[in-house]
Amino acid sequence: MRFECQPGCTECCRQQGFVYLSEADLVRAAKFVGMSVAAFERKYVYRTRNRMRLRVPRRAHCHFLHDGGCGIHPAKPAQCRIFPFWPELVNSPRAWAKTAGYCPGIGMGRLIQIKSAQAQAEEMRQEHPKLYR
Ligand code: SF4
Repeated sequence: MRFECQPGCTECCRQQGFVYLSEADLVRAAKFVGMSVAAFERKYVYRTRNRMRLRVPRRAHCHFLHDGGCGIHPAKPAQCRIFPFWPELVNSPRAWAKTAGYCPGIGMGRLIQIKSAQAQAEEMRQEHPKLYR
């Protein structure tokens, strides 16, 4: 598979769906924006018994998506950082091809070894064990 994220593109941020957070994601993002974890969670996070995710603003896709791209890029959640190497995409040629419909980075750049893609998919599983039971 080939993949290279395209400069200026934010299409994956604009798709329907939720950005799930691990505890490590929460701590990293709060620190990056200079807030306490508790204050960040109150403002930006929706937590249920099993999982937590970023709240979705009423008229935007993500609180942190700005004109210039991701406002917390250096501390962005694992789900965003690992995309498109999510287990459900790496393990399904059909899902991978469908994702290429909105991600212009798929099919571009250098060849990615399947082992490297699978290692990233495994990282995603480990960050979100409850999503991949
Ligand atoms: S859709 Fe693909 S190319 Fe565009 S920002 Fe996301 S990963 Fe990069």
